[in-house]
Amino acid sequence: MRDVKHKRILVTGGAGFLGSHLCERLLSDGHDVLCVDNFYTGSRENIAHLFNHPQFEVLRHDICLPLHVEVDEIYNFACPASPLHYQADPIQTIKTSVQGALHLLGLAKRLKIKIFQASTSEVYGDPHLHPQQESYWGNVNPIGLRSCYDEGKRCAETLFFDYHRQHKIPIKVGRIFNTYGPRMHPNDGRVVSNFIVQALKNEPITIYGDGQQTRSFCFVDDLIEVICRFMNSSDSLTGPINIGNPEEFKVVDLARQILRLTNSKSSLRFLPLPSDDPKQRRPNIDQAKQLLDWQPSVPLEQGLLATIAYFEKAIEQPAPQV
Ligand code: NAD
Ligand code: UDP
Repeated sequence: MRDVKHKRILVTGGAGFLGSHLCERLLSDGHDVLCVDNFYTGSRENIAHLFNHPQFEVLRHDICLPLHVEVDEIYNFACPASPLHYQADPIQTIKTSVQGALHLLGLAKRLKIKIFQASTSEVYGDPHLHPQQESYWGNVNPIGLRSCYDEGKRCAETLFFDYHRQHKIPIKVGRIFNTYGPRMHPNDGRVVSNFIVQALKNEPITIYGDGQQTRSFCFVDDLIEVICRFMNSSDSLTGPINIGNPEEFKVVDLARQILRLTNSKSSLRFLPLPSDDPKQRRPNIDQAKQLLDWQPSVPLEQGLLATIAYFEKAIEQPAPQV
């Protein structure tokens, strides 16, 4: 008889930044992991160290197409996450969020299993409420350059809750705020990876706008921990739950901190602010604290040092093209 605690777990987007850390964690917890990825922004390098693990399997597959597998749980992480990548092919981005959710929810319905959705703080858009709490409906432009991602993720949340109400599928919706750490793609254009790579190369640090916009940065290890706690919590806890670090920083201050930690000679270069760029973002994590007994433990400086050490090695080798 199978050990009930040992599960076969599907991780879509498992070759990406967050997905690869999640695969690693689930394997170390003793589960079988099926990583499904179309390698749009993820890479073999992110999961190469897992290839010889007897409980790890990889399937190249686009979740915009139906998937027939037998598993006990699903984590849906497939979707490009950086503005540069999700805007490169906006139709594919929205298809991944919406068609992908439909296919995976259909799979969860057939198998009667629990499914986690990697949602995002972007569902709040450029928020009028600060800090953002889960009950806030957001301020999202439906026709802008970020809409393929924001509205795709909002529609995916709707689908998750409709499948939950209509078909009684156990769901877990986590709204992830800006997360950073080793295995971010060096060319993905996100602020932490951009600034570290620029600082290490002594190239100008590209600050969009005046750098007074704020973000709250969560180290990847803290994020994976709360996602696992959430997934293993009672089925009555569906979310949406904000997951992230509530410490808030101005982008220009992040740049200065990275310059100091890398001992870099880079200058600051101010460039135009992209359209619909949210002015401030900080999660209210009261729910995660109270219901999951969790709060982030890695301070920004410690997480940045670990990420800098990763990029020092990564930029010695050419990055995989996406
Ligand atoms: P990432 O780009 O590194 O990973 C995404 C992965 O999904 C990649 O491996 C990519 O190849 C794969 N993928 C994309 N489209 C696919 C498709 N159609 N079929 C199969 N695989 C596909 O990004 P990440 O930072 O690891 O983000 C993972 C998830 O978490 C995303 O859903 C993202 O929206 C969400 N999220 C991330 C953050 C963050 O700060 N990193 C914040 C909020 C939400
Ligand atoms: N940003 C910046 N320089 C960069 C990359 C990003 O000033 O080289 C800014 C960007 O305009 C935004 C913030 O940093 O205000 C976070 O950007 P990111 O793309 O990491 O995430 P998101 O905007 O999705 O939160």
